[in-house]
Amino acid sequence: MRPPGPAGLVLTGYLAMAVLAVAAVVAVAVAAGGVTPTLVAVAAGLLVVAVLLAVLTVRSVSRPFASLSRAVHRLADSAVPGWRWTEPDHLEGLATELAAITTRLRDRLDELTEERDRAGQIVDALDDGVLLLDGAGRLLVANPAARTWFGLPDDLRPGLPAQRVLGVSQIAELAETAAETRAPATCIVSVVFPEYRTLALRAFSLADRGPTGRIVVTMTDITQRRRLEVLRRDFVANASHELKTPVAAVRVLAETLLTALPDDPEAAHGFAVRIGREAERLDTLVRDLLDLSRVERGTLDVEPVDLVGLAKEVVGGYADRAEERRIKLRTELQPNVAMRGDRAQLGLLLSNLVDNAVRYTSPKGTVRVRLDGSESRAVLQVTDTGEGIPASELSRIFERFYRVDKARARRTGGTGLGLAIVRHVAESHGGTVTVDSELGRGTTFTVTLPIAGPPSPAV
Ligand code: ADP
Repeated sequence: MRPPGPAGLVLTGYLAMAVLAVAAVVAVAVAAGGVTPTLVAVAAGLLVVAVLLAVLTVRSVSRPFASLSRAVHRLADSAVPGWRWTEPDHLEGLATELAAITTRLRDRLDELTEERDRAGQIVDALDDGVLLLDGAGRLLVANPAARTWFGLPDDLRPGLPAQRVLGVSQIAELAETAAETRAPATCIVSVVFPEYRTLALRAFSLADRGPTGRIVVTMTDITQRRRLEVLRRDFVANASHELKTPVAAVRVLAETLLTALPDDPEAAHGFAVRIGREAERLDTLVRDLLDLSRVERGTLDVEPVDLVGLAKEVVGGYADRAEERRIKLRTELQPNVAMRGDRAQLGLLLSNLVDNAVRYTSPKGTVRVRLDGSESRAVLQVTDTGEGIPASELSRIFERFYRVDKARARRTGGTGLGLAIVRHVAESHGGTVTVDSELGRGTTFTVTLPIAGPPSPAV
């Protein structure tokens, strides 16, 4: 059986008191020897007072109970969607209902905390940068990528002006535009500290129920993409320029040859020889361009490569040229050095180094090709006693079309692409190439390659 509600309890209490009072009056009357009209009036008065008191007290208790019950109902409706409200008719029932709602609220809070933590972890794991700004342009949140890009500490205090913290005015301005237009705004920003970066930014207002005017800014690092675009543009410009010069020379020489042919066969012969030389230059350039595009395509035909055999074959191919130029061509090859790699590309690497060594070494000089192998790596060295490379140029010689002495390189048939090919082949095999040089004394190129071959299976 359910215990009576608070109003019922009070009512019962007051009525019991009235009945006790009337019983007491009757007992007094019986003891005094008779029921007088006065006594009846007193008893009736006591009953009326008891009922009045009971009614008043019940009203004063049940009103707050009802409003408390309504408040709890509203709380359940708004905070616990789908809550099935069972109207309690006494305090204990209301307490039970409240306890159940509290448990549900705690569960919901745990779920929300978990959701928030998960969302935070996702934002933290993004490669892209994410910032949250308030309506006044203050920085509230910066994920790890953004903190790295702007050199911000991990324990960054939220609420500082974004412009001051980030050191870039465009971000706060972009956030302002997004807030004003209520539409996403984009721009590209360059950051110089702690590292040079080009970032593509997108700002949009957050449609949330919290404080309004908050803006999210997402950022993508496009430094590499930009660099590649510039490289590609430069490459096309450089290649066109390199091709233009010999083509123009051939045209002029051919025209001159035509006019010289009837009257001056000797001069005509000279022009024909020069046309042949220019054609050779064009041929070398086109071949180097094709080699470069082939190695840059990134496809490797990986197989076991006998490096000793390969080195002998490449060096053998230069024997005549070296002899012509009275250059001693020597090899010191450790036997049985083999690796996994693309034989054709490794051959290209070695022939470019030997070709340079022979071209940039004066007669009577020496070019030496060394090969050493250990369990994990093979080391190829091409040393010459040539003119050497100025220290200030060493960092640039691996760039495409870069030549230390343009006129001399052209004269000797250089295209400026050889070392770019060398570096690309070494790196695509998971190796490195370094250079040591002393002006007037000679140069050593060292290529270190992993015996196991390229780091990932060739596609
Ligand atoms: P190139 O076809 O002009 O030789 P490379 O890319 O092979 O182009 O070399 C770039 C530049 O580096 C050359 O123009 C040359 O100035 C310098 N260089 C390369 N190898 C040597 C070497 N063994 N000795 C001296 N200079 C060299």
